[in-house]
Amino acid sequence: MTGLNELYQEVILHHNKSPRNFGALESATHRALGHNPLCGDQLTVFLRLENDEVTDVRFHGKGCAISTASASVMTDAIKGKSKDEIKKMFKDFHNLVTGEPRDAEADLGKLEVFSGVSEFPARVKCASLCWHTLQAAIDGIEETSTE
Ligand code: ZN
Repeated sequence: MTGLNELYQEVILHHNKSPRNFGALESATHRALGHNPLCGDQLTVFLRLENDEVTDVRFHGKGCAISTASASVMTDAIKGKSKDEIKKMFKDFHNLVTGEPRDAEADLGKLEVFSGVSEFPARVKCASLCWHTLQAAIDGIEETSTE
């Protein structure tokens, strides 16, 4: 259980207790609602895209500690990034949480804390829900599910 303990102690508890960028974004140009029926996680991602760049992002919803913490860390990580950069980060993040081999160049920064999730396949969808929802928002899809 080391991986998950570490995960909880260092980041999840902190981000779950006081999530970053939490709430609605009035000036959002894109938004999507995502569900993870396996766990009951539900969140909305609000995004402001200007000239292909994320200038602001927020999320709200309710879910388990992993889904909330993942959305909190993600919203910080994607500010100022382009759509292409985000697509690449999502791919690298997905490889991280599923334990797939990673691109040697990938620099995930704070997202690395979710590497412990790869030991718990049932939680992969909790950690990646916010990314699926973000991608749906970018693609103009209003509602998405991890199923
Ligand atoms: Zn969950």
